[in-house]
Amino acid sequence: MKYNNITEKISLVKNNKISLVENVKDFLLIIDERKNLNAFNFVFADEALQLAESVEKKIKSGKHGKLAGAVIAIKDVLAYKDHQLTCSSKILSNFISIYTATAVQKLINEDAIIIGKTNCDEFAMGSSNENSAFGSVLNPIDESRVPGGSSGGSAVAVAADLCDVSLGTDTGGSIRQPAAFCGIYGLKPTYGRVSRFGLTAFASSFDTIGPFAKNVDDLALIMSVISGKDENDSTSVESELIDYPINKNQQKKFTIGIPKEYFGEGLDVEIKEKIFDVIEVLKQNDFEVKEITLPMTEYNIAAYYILTTAEASSNLARFDGARYGYRSKNSSTLEEMYVNSRSEGFGAEVKRRIMLGTYVLSSGYYDAYYRKAQKVRRLIKEDFDKAFSQVDLILTPTTPSVAFKLGEKSNDPLQMYLSDIYTTSANLAGIPGLNIPVGNNREGLPIGMQILAKHFDENKIFQFASFLNTLL
Ligand code: GLN
Repeated sequence: MKYNNITEKISLVKNNKISLVENVKDFLLIIDERKNLNAFNFVFADEALQLAESVEKKIKSGKHGKLAGAVIAIKDVLAYKDHQLTCSSKILSNFISIYTATAVQKLINEDAIIIGKTNCDEFAMGSSNENSAFGSVLNPIDESRVPGGSSGGSAVAVAADLCDVSLGTDTGGSIRQPAAFCGIYGLKPTYGRVSRFGLTAFASSFDTIGPFAKNVDDLALIMSVISGKDENDSTSVESELIDYPINKNQQKKFTIGIPKEYFGEGLDVEIKEKIFDVIEVLKQNDFEVKEITLPMTEYNIAAYYILTTAEASSNLARFDGARYGYRSKNSSTLEEMYVNSRSEGFGAEVKRRIMLGTYVLSSGYYDAYYRKAQKVRRLIKEDFDKAFSQVDLILTPTTPSVAFKLGEKSNDPLQMYLSDIYTTSANLAGIPGLNIPVGNNREGLPIGMQILAKHFDENKIFQFASFLNTLL
């Protein structure tokens, strides 16, 4: 594409340097050429072209929104009125939304063009996008590899130039990990910053909606639009606004914490080297870099998988064949209809999570697992509170490995869960985290670095990331 970010694109359209209709046609062409990546569940070609024409007129007349003509793909767990909402599951294969998610509506209100809905792991459960009723998504950098998950389609849509920016969701890493595997930026906002209204719930106290982009400016722009309190989500809050444009004068004063627990056993050597190169550059540029400790780190994965499966087992109870989507035809009683609809409608990983969650909530095990994990969650949050009393930002790898091969971990759920080892903590604590692409390994596969900040400190993350971009 012939522009660096959305704001620049709007001014090029205004000055007749590019045509929005042509721009949307270009995207549709690339989507078609790269169909094998399987990034989209649905493409809204006609709607997008029609909108391109009317938004182009708005831009020319100067009466346009902040995202005029931005071509945006949304993860297929977000409701968009009169469009299919499948969560990449057979159980919702015929479901049409009757309302629009707040975050999506806010994009539309600013004249964005929604080009389609992206593939993902079923109900956002997964780290590789292989758990989808629509089939796996391929990594555009090496098609024999996974793009990460669960928001794999949204990451690929941006990385392969199928749209300008996209929305994903992050419950335990599903924005940051695929962003790392595909070499782009992906932000998990503070819990409560973006309304969850219209997001199909996986683990409600962990779920967040956030953007993928190729540059920090677009991330900040999208966040400035989708943030804010919403009366339809009681956990959303009004908070310090996102600065757009990014305040580029403030960048140098940050103290950066390096948690030693995130650089130990299991971390790929090349990723470690690359992150230490970045730390060296930061030191040379007068950042204060401190080693810190987050002692509860070793319990992240266990706490995450106990609490999220518990919440999922409750949230997914609503899919029973009676109210939504797929209903099994081979049942003679109501009970059989429930059982058969769920057995036939859900995939293996979703069933595994529902069973795990039901187990940890069941009487006799509740105290041993669920209640204990809640206590551990509090301690993990306290680790971060302590750390952020000493540093502004925390820097870690995003993932322990680069993008792995399709099929490599499919039969080993524990290995798959371990790919979330550095990302789940932000969801347990509710803090924001950004994946920054920092280069490639020797095979040319992207390496991601994660920046964490305290609650509602996204502005600091953006200031840091845009400054770092001038150094690397
Ligand atoms: N990979 C993690 C999981 O499987 C994270 C998922 C997510 O963030 N939606 O639970």
